[in-house]
Amino acid sequence: ASGYTLLRDPRHNKGLVFSEKERNAHYLLGLLPPVSITQELQEKKLLYNIRQYKVPLQRYMALMDLQERNERLFYKLLIDNVEELLPIIYTPTVGEACQKYGCIFRRPQGLYISSKEKGRILEVLKNWPERSIQVIVVTDGERILGLGDLGCQGMGIPVGKLSLYTALGGIRPSACLPVTIDVGTNNEKLLKDEFYIGLRQKRATGQEYSELLHEFMYAVKHNYGEKVLIQFEDFANHNAFELLAKYCTTHLVFNDDIQGTACVVLGGILAALKLVCGTLAEHTFLFLGAGEAGTGIAELIALMMSKQTKASLEVCRKKIWLVDSKGLIVSSRRGSLQHFKKPWAHEHEPIGSLLDAVKVIKPTVLIGSSGMGSTFTKEVVEAMASFNERPIILALSNPTSQSECTAEEAYTWSKGHAIFASGSPFDPVEQNGKVYVPGQANNAYIFPGFGLGLVISGTIRVHDDMLLAASEALAKQVTKEQLDKGLIYPPLENIRKISAQIAASVAAVAYELGLATHLPQPSDLVKFAESCMYSPVYRRYR
Ligand code: NAP
Ligand code: MN
Repeated sequence: ASGYTLLRDPRHNKGLVFSEKERNAHYLLGLLPPVSITQELQEKKLLYNIRQYKVPLQRYMALMDLQERNERLFYKLLIDNVEELLPIIYTPTVGEACQKYGCIFRRPQGLYISSKEKGRILEVLKNWPERSIQVIVVTDGERILGLGDLGCQGMGIPVGKLSLYTALGGIRPSACLPVTIDVGTNNEKLLKDEFYIGLRQKRATGQEYSELLHEFMYAVKHNYGEKVLIQFEDFANHNAFELLAKYCTTHLVFNDDIQGTACVVLGGILAALKLVCGTLAEHTFLFLGAGEAGTGIAELIALMMSKQTKASLEVCRKKIWLVDSKGLIVSSRRGSLQHFKKPWAHEHEPIGSLLDAVKVIKPTVLIGSSGMGSTFTKEVVEAMASFNERPIILALSNPTSQSECTAEEAYTWSKGHAIFASGSPFDPVEQNGKVYVPGQANNAYIFPGFGLGLVISGTIRVHDDMLLAASEALAKQVTKEQLDKGLIYPPLENIRKISAQIAASVAAVAYELGLATHLPQPSDLVKFAESCMYSPVYRRYR
């Protein structure tokens, strides 16, 4: 290949880092200025440049350009600066990018599969240049973050999530495939937007929708085999539950909004238990919000209790209560409940408000997953603190403005007793000379390592025990020192180490259950996981 082509191939380009020898051997003479620098200097320059942009969306665009120009440098930058760059590559900035995706669109990333391609999806997959794919993240754009239906412009999400799979979980970029399934959008604003990039039609539903998804699922299996992980991302509630239930026995599928969230929250709770008395089953849980996140978390907690106590799932579920927009979910409402709420409809008088539910149920753990801000009021937090020495309060709703309460409110109203974590990040809070550090229940703790564990063991199905193992592995990564500050999640800067631990735990379960196909089983799974992880350091070319 010519040197000119090499410089324009993002997977192999090294820019000014090409050495004298490499320039000679690869027809690069004259195509670069004379200076030859290190990757470290190059990285320093990029970071300097990115920081010049004060508008987050501009930083996003600069990073996307870098990914398209020099992949290894992009990942090195991301890996070395996770805490700073994660909010740009992923939430919140990626949300804004999706809203404006049509406008900032330059080069396509990922695969677009629209209703027009019905009957030809295999053909579409074959247009992708890479043959060996390990992880697919797919969305239909109907519920992008908390932003609703963004149709085809949801593509920013699979692209962003897969960047994290590589940066945080070490999956090779060439083995990652972002997919957006475009069945239309019900977003009137986008339908009228002249820069919109998707099909200009209302969403297909019912049979038409499920047939397209079915064709996709089987085309993927046909083209890439049993071991490719398909992560469903940001589907609307009803489709998310249905797709997961429908394909979990025939495909390697994972839904981050349901399972990933459940895993990361359970991990935080397991860590928090080291600060309070009692086993998981000795606690009482109350949720505000009974959607994908809430019921997914509740189910995984019940499963862990059941594992630990050998009690049935039904019995364990009785320790968990959920409140939705109509009040406490109780058995008298059963007739009108969506199926995923039914397991939580316990015998009880109807209760309308969260405050009343807190006072009557007396939970030890309060979890907000409603998307509604300021719902953990002073009265609610004070009630929690009145019957708990150390109430565990998780305000998971995003973005920050929708958080059930702020970190400062949780600490102030509980007089510093709350163990608090949230979905959106909060700064540490200082009170009476003591510093409290709130943790962030970020899904990025789990899914990259979880996926890595599946990939390195060649697992063909996800089993709930793998989710439990991932939660336990995450909880183990929190040090005593961090716990003492109130932190129930480890710092993100160590995320690659954490991911390797999670991957090893997940893989161990896969081997135990006979679901792993990579044989024989490596003797040290942590070492093996680490050795499989993609490194962004440049290769030397002969
Ligand atoms: P969802 O499926 O739409 O569920 C929302 C639930 O909240 C529904 O059960 C809804 O009740 C209930 N609700 C809405 N308004 C309410 C109110 N005023 N009072 C009581 N309940 C109310 O949404 P989701 O996907 O579960 O996400 C929920 C929130 O969790 C979002 O803000 C999201 O950002 C956050 N989240 C955080 C993480 C994380 O921290 N890692 C991960 C995932 C999601 P009905 O069922 O009656 O409509
Ligand atoms: Mn999501």
